Formats: sequence, C-alpha cells, structure tokens
Amino acid sequence: MRLSEVEENKRVVITKVLGHGSFRRRISEMGFVAGKEVMVLKNAPLYDPVEYQLLGYNVSLRRAEAFLIEVITTEEAINSAPPNFDGIIDLEVLKISAREKGKTIHVALAGNPNCGKTTLFNRVTNSKEHVGNYSGVTIDSKIATFQRKGYTFKLVDLPGTYSLTTFSPEELYTRNYIIEQTPDIVLNVIDAANLERNMFLSTQLIDMDIKVVMALNMYDDLETGGAKLDAKKLGELLGIPFIPTIASKGIGLDAVFDEIIEVYEDRNPVVRHIHINYGEELEKSIKAIQKEIKQDKPIRAKLSSRYLALRLLDKDPDALETLKSSTNFSRINTITQNEIARLKARLNEESSHLITDAKFGFIAGALQETFVPGIQWRYAITGKIDKLVTHRILGFPIFLFFMFVTFFATFRLGSYPMNWINMGVAVISDFVKTTMPSGMFKDLLTDGIINGLGSIIVFLPNILILFFFTSLMEDTGYMARAAFIMDKLMHKIGLHGRSFIPMVMGFGCNVPAIMATRTIRNRGDRLLTMLIIPFMSCSARLPVYIVLISAFFKDYPAVVLTGLYLLGILMAIVMAKILNRTLFRRKETPFVMELPPYRMPVLRNTLLHMWDKASQYFKKIGGTILVAVVIIWALEYFPHSEEIHTQGKVNAIANATPDWHAQSQIEHSYLGIIGHTIEPLIRPLGFDWRMGICLVAGIPAKEIVVSTMGVLYETGKDDTKTRELLPEVLKSEVYYSGPKMGEKVFNQAVALSFLVFVLLYFPCIAVIATIKRESGSWKWALFTLFYTSVFAWTMAFIIYNIALYFINP
Ligand code: GDP
Ligand code: MG
Repeated sequence: MRLSEVEENKRVVITKVLGHGSFRRRISEMGFVAGKEVMVLKNAPLYDPVEYQLLGYNVSLRRAEAFLIEVITTEEAINSAPPNFDGIIDLEVLKISAREKGKTIHVALAGNPNCGKTTLFNRVTNSKEHVGNYSGVTIDSKIATFQRKGYTFKLVDLPGTYSLTTFSPEELYTRNYIIEQTPDIVLNVIDAANLERNMFLSTQLIDMDIKVVMALNMYDDLETGGAKLDAKKLGELLGIPFIPTIASKGIGLDAVFDEIIEVYEDRNPVVRHIHINYGEELEKSIKAIQKEIKQDKPIRAKLSSRYLALRLLDKDPDALETLKSSTNFSRINTITQNEIARLKARLNEESSHLITDAKFGFIAGALQETFVPGIQWRYAITGKIDKLVTHRILGFPIFLFFMFVTFFATFRLGSYPMNWINMGVAVISDFVKTTMPSGMFKDLLTDGIINGLGSIIVFLPNILILFFFTSLMEDTGYMARAAFIMDKLMHKIGLHGRSFIPMVMGFGCNVPAIMATRTIRNRGDRLLTMLIIPFMSCSARLPVYIVLISAFFKDYPAVVLTGLYLLGILMAIVMAKILNRTLFRRKETPFVMELPPYRMPVLRNTLLHMWDKASQYFKKIGGTILVAVVIIWALEYFPHSEEIHTQGKVNAIANATPDWHAQSQIEHSYLGIIGHTIEPLIRPLGFDWRMGICLVAGIPAKEIVVSTMGVLYETGKDDTKTRELLPEVLKSEVYYSGPKMGEKVFNQAVALSFLVFVLLYFPCIAVIATIKRESGSWKWALFTLFYTSVFAWTMAFIIYNIALYFINP
C-alpha cells in the first residue's frame, strides 16, 4: 500500500521509498526510510498536505509525495503471516514483515531494440518470449517474477527504444512505465559492440536520476572485434555499475542480479548521481527553468526538476503537458521560450540539437578514457552480405529463393512424420472402433473427434518446419532485409515499410499480425495494413493446401504452394492500391528501416521461437476447433434416420457401392441441407455441396476445413479397411447423383479454385474480432468479412475458368 492511501490513526511501517534520487534523498532526510514506523494523523480525502507522526515529530507531506512511499499495514502483515500464526501483530512483527516485503525488487529492462533484452528476460525468468532480430514487434511489456538470493524479482521486459522522447509509441510507453510505475531499478541493456548509439538512452536515464544498472550485453561481439573496454572505470565515471554479459549464453546474468541487489540496498560504492554537463549556456538555461519548476512541489515529487527543465528545452510536448497543471505554468512556459530563443541567438543552434550534441559529447568523452575500439567485424561482414541480399536486382530473386526453400522443406521433409502420424491416428481409431460398443457415442468419438483432430495434428510437422524457417530468418536478421527489399515495393503501392513485418507475421497467424500493426504511427496506414493482412496466408490454411496439393499437384508441390502465397501477396497489393485510391488518401510519414547486424542463430532461441508459434496453434486446436468439430459432426449425424440407413444399404447392395448409405445419411442431415442450399452459389466455382459445407465450417477456423473434409469424404469408408489418406479419397471421389453423376468431383481446376477461395476469404472469426478491437469499430470488421468473401469468389471464378480452359481447351 502507498502511504497516501492509509486511513487516519493507522500505524504503518515503511517498506521502501520510490521515485527519483533527489526526491528519495529529500524524503529520507526527513526520516522517511524503510523500516520506520509512521502514524497518519490527518488524512481527509481532499485535504493536501497530509499530516503524519514520525519518530515523535509531526510532519506534513503532499499527497503526491506520500504516494511514492510504500508501506505495510497490520492487515497486510496478517495476510502475509504464516498460516499457523495466532499471535497479535505488534510493532516488531510489523517491522519484520516490512523487511520481508522490502525484499521485492521491481526491475525494468530498457534498451535499444535488438540489444538482447528479451533474451536476457527469457534466460533469467525461464520464459519463452519472442526474440527476434528486428525491431518493433510489440509495444507492450512482459512481466515475470522469480526468486534469487532471498529476494523476489519482478522483471519487466519493455519495448526497445533508442531514446525516451515521445517520438514513438514504444518510447512513450517505456518512459511512462519508468515514471508512473516507478521500478526500483532500471536495468539498461546495451549492445557492447555498438556502445555510442546505445548509451544515448543511458544519458537520458542519468538525467532522470533513477537507479540504473548496466548490462553490457553482446560482450562476445566486443571481444571478437578485438576492442578493449574498461567496464569498471566506465562505471565509476558514470556512477552506474556496468556488468559484461552474453545473454544468449547466459553469461554474466548472475552478476547482474547480484549487482541489482547491491544497488537496491544502497551498498554499491560506485553508485552516485552525476550531472551530464551540457555546457555553460545550456546549464544557465537549465538553472533558470529549474528554479521556476521547483515552485511546484507535487511535480517535483514525481520528476526531477533538472530532468523536466531539459525536457522543456528539448521541446518535448509531453513535458509541457505534465506541467500544465502547475499554478505557475505560464511563467515556466515563458521562461522556457525565452531560454530557447536566447540559446538560438547566442549559439545559432536549436536547443534540442545542443542537448543531443552534448549527450554524444559526453558519451565520446567517457569512451575516450575507457574504450579502445576494435574492428567492427560484425558490421564489416554484415555490409558484405547486405551488398548481395539487398542488391537492387539480385535482392528479389534471393528473397524468392529463400521463400521457395522454406516451402520446399515444409512440404518434402514434412511428409515423412506426416505419414507416421497418419498411421498412428488410424491405429487409435481402429482400436476404439473394435473395442467400443456401437452407438452414437462411438460414432462421435471415432468419426468426429479422433478423425477431426487427427486430420489437424497431422499438419503439425509441416507447421513446425515452416515456423522453424521463418524463425531462422528472423533470428539471423534476414527478415529485416526482406522488409528492406520490400520497403521500396511497399512505397510504390502506397504502403509503409513498417507494414511489412505485420504482414510477414500474418503468414503465421493473422491475429497477432493485426495486433502488431500497433507500431504503425499513421492511423490510415495502420487500418490499411490491417485490412490486407487477411490475404497473408496464415498457417491454418496450410493443411488445406497440403491435402489438395498432395492429391492433385504431386509433381510440383512447391511451385503451387509458393504460387498461392505469392497470389495472396499480390491480392494484398491490389487491394492496397484500390483502398489507397479510394478510402485512404493520405500522406506518408518517412521513417528509418533498421538493418541490424547479422547474427549466427542460437539453436535454443530459434527452437523456442518456433515452439512459441506452434503452441499458439495448438491452443487453438484445444478450444475452438474441438467444439467446431463436434458441431459439424452433430450437424452431419442428425437427423439420424434408420430408414435412410436401411434404404441406403439396400441401394448400396444394388449399386455395389459400399459408400452409398453413409453418403445419403450426410445428404439428408442438417449439414447436407446447408450444403445443398448454398450449392447454386458455389457451382460456378466448380464446387459440390460438400465443399460448400467445408467452406462454411471453416469460418470459425480454417483448420476445420480439413477436418470437415475428413468427416464428409471419409465416413463412407469400410471400417475394416485401413484408413486411407484423405488425398487418395479426394482423387477417387465421384458424383453419385445429379447431372454430373459418375464424373470425378475433383480435378486440377476445381482444386485450384478451392485453394484460391480458401486463400482469399477471411481467415477466421478471431481475425474479424481482432480487427474490430484494434480499429475500434465494427465497420471495418464487417467490411473485411464482406470484401474478402467477394474477392475470394471472384478470383476463384476467374482461376477456375482459366484452368478449365487449360485442362480441356
Ligand atoms: P531485444 O530486441 O532487445 O529484446 O533483443 P533480443 O533478445 O530479441 O535479441 C536480439 C538478437 O541478439 C537475438 O538474435 C539474440 O539471439 C541475440 N543476442 C542476444 N544476446 C546476445 C549476446 O550476448 N551475444 C550475441 N552474440 N548475440 C546475442
Ligand atoms: Mg524484445
């Protein structure tokens, strides 16, 4: 609890004092230190300041100040006492509880994108967060707690930022987190092979006057390059401990957390608050503004006045906003404007440039004394590789080549484990069929659940391989190059390079991809990206492709698969063009496309990464799909008529086709009715009523298309025969009634048409819901639902007719 929330006449013990250095010093001089007892004398809700009794004195604190003091109450102590505790909580017990509670250290990870924060976070917390060699994947934070040396650590992985100004949502988020959530320690992770740029952020943390520990990560890179760094001395110069680490190997992390404990307990002699010297003129301006800010007591509790003065001189709109509530705001503002003008007149330079220059000057100075640069081999190699892969002409075929290799492996390597799983499912299904008594429940279990889930799990190897390759591309840094190559193209179609990564993520699952558009600054750009992501073929559609491709395009699977993905991309481009001309006419905002250095992938990370994506897929199977499979099964099973069955059997014997009875059951079921109702609509695409059902069934999730196919096209199989592969069944499927009786249901044209339809119509209900949530209105969600379906129909129609022409010209 915070001291500001404690009721009158309550006795509490201080557990820790939060906030920036000068506040903590001021408050501890008044006697507010951990372990001390405080009594609240007067605390009316609207009354400020609040009166306290401390060490026998009466003191008053502002509410904003009391908010930064964390305390423990008797009630809290009782709740956290051991279960068999039956004594009364006296002051001594309260103090012990306070000491215990003070052993929770809240640590926030801050640093540039790609410096290894998430790697470090995963290592120490044993979690499996997404690590990628590119920036801007998420702008929220991950929290984990763990124990170490008798302390509880609450570790937060913040988004990567180059700075703490309010230029981007990530920066704003990180800065607000540090200011509002007041972590005890900020663990600033920096890329040791790129000290100068990484330490820019560190200078801002120094300005904020908070407790910082530095993890000099990627120390292996620094050493391989032959550079020498006196980390100890650098730490002494900056008043912040620097600990060399290699997060990807887990080296140095123990030392980091030991150091964090030392700093937290104020036992580290290195730690002191230094002021970066901004030069005579700037310092004068800082002093002048600081003096005025200091009049406003509540603001001072939250932020250091020097920091605020610097932010004002840097023309930070957020700092102005923060100070708006001050009674002397107009004076602060006038002085700031005067000082900015004065600096401009005096030094012929914008104040914000002066601040940046001074910061880099400070870093250069600190490094001059402690650092001997080596060869930046990583950048040298990176430069060489980049010459090739981002080449104006060669870049694109190389990109296509990598995509092709990925899909080829997915298909070819995946087919082996796929067969094993298929056999496994058949064995289980047969076992259940022979051991269980006949009846509805047996049918549900075998035809519904085992078959349905089996036909989904069978694709797990393919999906794992696909994810392995995309993870590999992300981890090595190639993905960023792909984004770079695409950036030029994206600009041509009026899209943003930043849209590319969400679009690539869309190949995994559209839902996180749509969420990842949050990093796009411009609302129009963001909406546009969201609307075209559904064309990025998500992994749930992959099973459908695999089944149909192995049935009808066995000779050139990778070509068709790559073609489908490319068609999706092409459609996205066309749609972007159309939307840009019509609904979104707007200007582009320029931005820098990051090209992080290449890294040797760490197998552990790549596997974790792969698993992360695969488990998302599995979670979906668990819930939605199981329910959907059962619903589809029920729609197919009811109304269950023995008469049809018997009649079917008679006909079957007469026609000598064993499938007949089961198929007439489906045809008269609810599912059959739905399929027949929509048949006229899909006949122009070459689909029969069962394919229509599959498409409808795919609305909750695309995986269900395949499991429904499994149910629809396989139930007719004789139980005693071994379970054949779905592709084989599809190939031999014929119309058994109607004008096309006897003709094959599927041919290459039908298969292509179906593939295209599945590629283009909206991926699933979850995507529509996500678009609703992220865009804030149903309008765009429904728009997506509608336009993707129309698009899918039109394209399938065109492609079907073209293909038909080629099959029988
Ligand atoms: P974040 O953006 O700061 O969260 O960085 P990540 O944790 O995603 O890491 C970016 C890349 O750097 C990944 O490919 C990691 O495997 C790699 N990496 C992390 N720490 C080290 C390290 O100490 N040495 C080397 N060589 N690579 C590292
Ligand atoms: Mg990260």
